[in-house]
Amino acid sequence: MPLDNGFGARASLPITDHAALRAALEAGNLQTLLMVYVHISRDEAMLERFARHLTNPYATPSDLPDDLVEELRGKLFALLTQDPPPIIKPLPADLMQRMMSVGVAEPVADEFVPLMLEQAGFAEPPTRLSRAGRKTPPADFKVLVIGAGMAGLAAAIKLEDAGYNFEIVEKNPEVGGTWYENVYPGVGVDTPSHFYSLSFAQYPDWNNYHPRGHDMQAYLVGVADRFDLRKYIRFGTRVKGMRWDDSRKLWLVTIADPTGQHVIEASAIINGHGPANRWKLPDIPGIESFQGPAMHTADWDPKIDLKGKRVAVIGTGASGAQVVASLAGEVAHLTVFQRSKHWVMKNPEYVNDVTEPVKWALRHVPLYMPWFRFRAFWFASDGLYKWVKMDPAWEGNNLAISQANEEARQYALAGMAGVLGHRPDVLEKITPDFPIFSKRIVLDAGYLAALGRDNVDIETGGIERIVADGIVMKDGRKIALDAIIFATGFRIAKMSGDLEIIGRNGRSLGEEWGEEDPRAYLGTTMEGFPNLFWVVGPNSVPNHAGGHNLIVEGHIHYIIECLDMMVEKGAQAIEPTKEAFDAYNAKVDGDLKSMVWSHPKARSYYRNSKGRVYLSCPYRLVDMWTLLRAPKPEDYRFDCVGDNKVAAGAQSA
Ligand code: NAP
Repeated sequence: MPLDNGFGARASLPITDHAALRAALEAGNLQTLLMVYVHISRDEAMLERFARHLTNPYATPSDLPDDLVEELRGKLFALLTQDPPPIIKPLPADLMQRMMSVGVAEPVADEFVPLMLEQAGFAEPPTRLSRAGRKTPPADFKVLVIGAGMAGLAAAIKLEDAGYNFEIVEKNPEVGGTWYENVYPGVGVDTPSHFYSLSFAQYPDWNNYHPRGHDMQAYLVGVADRFDLRKYIRFGTRVKGMRWDDSRKLWLVTIADPTGQHVIEASAIINGHGPANRWKLPDIPGIESFQGPAMHTADWDPKIDLKGKRVAVIGTGASGAQVVASLAGEVAHLTVFQRSKHWVMKNPEYVNDVTEPVKWALRHVPLYMPWFRFRAFWFASDGLYKWVKMDPAWEGNNLAISQANEEARQYALAGMAGVLGHRPDVLEKITPDFPIFSKRIVLDAGYLAALGRDNVDIETGGIERIVADGIVMKDGRKIALDAIIFATGFRIAKMSGDLEIIGRNGRSLGEEWGEEDPRAYLGTTMEGFPNLFWVVGPNSVPNHAGGHNLIVEGHIHYIIECLDMMVEKGAQAIEPTKEAFDAYNAKVDGDLKSMVWSHPKARSYYRNSKGRVYLSCPYRLVDMWTLLRAPKPEDYRFDCVGDNKVAAGAQSA
């Protein structure tokens, strides 16, 4: 078990800063401290004494007998300060599973254990280069990675680990992707910080339990530095398109940099350009006629001073809600334009800071970080699946799909009323009439309170047009404005973006996917497009939970397994068979019918205009993680230079 907490922090025993340790034991998460103690001491009796009291997953020390809590703190203090220090050994899987279950006060099923061991960071996987009997990738097989956001950086770490020759192209001058670009006030993530990071690059220094945008960016810059990844990145370079050369089994990739346009060759491409990286302005008539500052949240200009101005925010999704919460206190007047409603949910931890003693524990107490990550992960992942899966026996109202979904709806309703009870006019305007989670929810970081302020109005009647100095509503009223902010989202459905991708036999991915109908096998590979891999592609977004990071890691793992399988077979090209591709997509479409996103009242960017859900994954994270462990050879065809007819799964060459 490595004691390296990463990012320069090193947990070593014995701990000599007793004052800091005592503060950490007071402030630290009780369940996590218990896990650390049992992990190091193997005192299972203590685990069972706590198990009797830990019936509420969110129990705090005040819910437990004082003397038991003090006994734990005392024993852990003694253990961590004793000299010579205890030797920390890996635990048997069944004990880990029991500990996990006690810690979260519910059974952690067998199927989750390998996932949790990996994702919490307990089991550091051996590098592929150290795998006995593995064929080394040929030096002339070059992988091109598009984008240096979370996906591109994860790909780089793992490709290096596997001995592949690779390069990353990044359009920006810095790493970070979404988090480099999105700098609007209030920008943040609604997945817990200690979960929303790479399992093999964990970070003890989060300032909040949900990362702010700049902390997310600091983390990704830290990953690039810590793993020395900049040497692989061509900054300021944009991929324009790519064409498959079937005779040579490689991609001819057109890139543009400040010196002009060039064609480079790549044996395989990993596209990590992100589903939400192409922002869109609304098609509102007169948009170009506005004379004041106007900007999209993803194209924020921090030099524009909005203090004391009359400002409009168009759009009330996650970005709009964050920017409204941040700006309401500083502008003279804010008008929020809501086209359709969003469920807004309270999460008490959303705005909480991580205190210094807790950060100290994450840095210096061995095993605190993985056990804390396990906990953050558990409560933000598959436990929420019950909220999005339709219960065919549900006989309640048609605003819910199951008892669990109805309970979540009631929780959200109570939260909204709790903040805006004094403003029934606002509540009426924003309370949705569709099931919760059928569209992306907004986690409340002050949005509801902002809507209740005297200097904030919410308009729901529809925009007629934008004029030089304001917005004219459909009812003829004109709202005078100094600035407009467009929080109108991204071109997510056109998943190939502006890339022109020409695959085998001249097939165009842009044409096949069209404006809004992308499909992939396991969200990553496409029939007809050899050696092209998408990260978090069609139907792989875990819309029931957090976990984008887990799918990123799962896809990178799977992609390298695909490449390894191809190298092992001596082939130069790999793509899914039409049968496997079609069967998987048919299954996904079928399984999506029982998910909340397909509810007749559901309207969201998860669905295209024909009603097909193209973005969301109908499966749990544990299901996807398991599916992505290893490609099935029979689902792929392997081609060699000069031979295009190798049967699925067959050894070529
Ligand atoms: P979004 O969820 O797509 O929301 C766009 C908003 O703009 C919606 O309210 C939409 O109304 C409105 N809109 C779009 N076109 C319009 C038009 N022509 N006229 C009037 N209103 C219009 O975009 P987002 O808030 O930027 O979020 C995008 C995604 O980024 C999120 O879902 C999330 O995945 C990610 N994100 C996450 C966080 C976070 O983690 N906290 C923060 C920001 C973004 P309708 O509802 O009627 O479509």
